[in-house]
Amino acid sequence: MAVNFNNKFSMALSSLNLLITIAIVCLVSRTAFAELERFEEPAKGDGSLSFLVVGDWGRRGTYNQSDVALQMGKVGEKLDINFVISTGDNFYDNGLTGTNDPNFEESFTKVYTAKSLQKQWYSVLGNHDYRGDAEAQLNPILRKIDSRWLCLRSFILNAEIAEFFFVDTTPMVDMYFTTTKDHTYDWRGITSRQKYISELLKDVEKALMESNAKWKIVVGHHAIRSVGHHGDTQELVRQLLPILQANNLDLYMNGHDHCLEHITDTESGIQFLTSGAGSKAWRGDLQTGSNRDDVKFFYDGQGFMSVQLTETNAEITFYDVVGNILHKWKVPKELRSAM
Ligand SMILES: [Zn+2]
Repeated sequence: MAVNFNNKFSMALSSLNLLITIAIVCLVSRTAFAELERFEEPAKGDGSLSFLVVGDWGRRGTYNQSDVALQMGKVGEKLDINFVISTGDNFYDNGLTGTNDPNFEESFTKVYTAKSLQKQWYSVLGNHDYRGDAEAQLNPILRKIDSRWLCLRSFILNAEIAEFFFVDTTPMVDMYFTTTKDHTYDWRGITSRQKYISELLKDVEKALMESNAKWKIVVGHHAIRSVGHHGDTQELVRQLLPILQANNLDLYMNGHDHCLEHITDTESGIQFLTSGAGSKAWRGDLQTGSNRDDVKFFYDGQGFMSVQLTETNAEITFYDVVGNILHKWKVPKELRSAM
């Protein structure tokens, strides 16, 4: 009897072990293949959040990059910002050559020196970053040189009242794959483009659906809607926009066009905000039909943007190179869908 009981007991134990092993394998594969990496930022004591957004900047201080940085420092201090967001094209002309490229310190560490800007910077890659060693910007070694730096291809930032979904838009744009005579791109890590894009879109959709945050914000390098030099990015209009519209996105923030602009989606409550004026600007060309109803603001010169969020209100402000306020937009959360 005792032997029988032991046999049954050990069989039951093996089955239990098997089940636990299966469960662990499932859990590990889920986190390894289907989830975007997550970061956390606490909101302020009163539950509010404020941050700056700048894009298209790294030119060793030239083209007024240092002047924009100076004003960012002043506004950053006034708003007591939680962090800074970079919308990509971080280092010109061709990204970084490697993790020891002096351009990293010359265009980042030595330019954004204000006390208020000594916060975490959350960055995505732009098309110019992909022209160099894209993986260098993702390498944690850079954080040893300047602990503010955090750049991943795609990731999620949970900041209590707001959740940010950073999306790697460059691999989605066809022309970087079809028109390659002028530039080369670092596509290591994106071995199958279609698989990369479809998994990314699935991850973003799932994360947006599961988000309980009051404010949902997507950050990408390329504009969905823009009346600036590059105009709308059709690949994003086709593939990304429907996901954002279906999931009650509040704000889409981007760079790429070297301007500041605010466009309201005509089919949802999404606000398209371009902040790509961190250094070289004044391109002087507008897409035809730029005076359309959905364009609330467009500025062709250098500057940056601030965002202040509470549970009930969002306040977006655009500044020029000397710190003048160019455009301010405020909306209560409840009225968002009516705007
Ligand atoms: Zn760009």
